[in-house]
Amino acid sequence: MNRTDAQIIADNAARVREQIATAADSAGRSGDEILLVAVTKYLPTERIADVIEAGLETLGESRPQQLWDKYDRFEQADIRWHMIGHLQKNKIRKTLPRISLLESVDSSSMLDAVQRIAAEESLQQDVLIEVNISGDKTKYGFPPEEVEASILHAAESCPNVAIKGLMGMAAREGGLDIARRNFESLRELRDRLIDVVPSNVDLGHLSMGMSRDFEEAVRSGATMVRIGRALYEGVRI
Ligand SMILES: *Cc1c(COP(=O)(O)O)cnc(C)c1O
Repeated sequence: MNRTDAQIIADNAARVREQIATAADSAGRSGDEILLVAVTKYLPTERIADVIEAGLETLGESRPQQLWDKYDRFEQADIRWHMIGHLQKNKIRKTLPRISLLESVDSSSMLDAVQRIAAEESLQQDVLIEVNISGDKTKYGFPPEEVEASILHAAESCPNVAIKGLMGMAAREGGLDIARRNFESLRELRDRLIDVVPSNVDLGHLSMGMSRDFEEAVRSGATMVRIGRALYEGVRI
């Protein structure tokens, strides 16, 4: 019998979870500690139904308009959304009430805008600070050397923003060796910051790793991986 798209996605997710577990195990961790964020940017809105039927519960979108449409269509479903891409300031207000985590706070003006709007909307917003770990000039994110100041600023002046950790993307070029170095540098930055930020700042999460490099990311300490293409292998999109 032909498998449905939902079954194919579920099988792909099971395979990804096994790979996460194996990579976690090799680093003395448990795969259960690592959240799989299903990136849905390749799918039109109606096909989110397949992802939900496949049992995935945390979904990620990089484009705000797509996120709004998908959230609104599946508002009744037992899922939550992460915003993972660059968010223009005029789209913050409509995005915050629809997400459980903003993974991509990528500048101090963005941090201040999220604080202002979250306060106006009486929201408490969980965020990750996006760090440009590859040094790629076309990528968004704080330069590593500015992250400490931004976290201290948030801890002091952004009561409606709760930082939960750091997010980063490996360089597009250079293969897995470079990716591993990028991920290690993000983890080392986090480990160093833990010693200098106020004790009420939680830097527990490291969101790093996509389809091509998530095993490296898990071995380097990822607590969240953002997976798109690997979930849709064999699905016509
Ligand atoms: C698209 C995207 C991903 C997922 O990439 P895949 O290669 O499809 O796994 C992860 N993170 C961000 C920020 C993305 O835009």
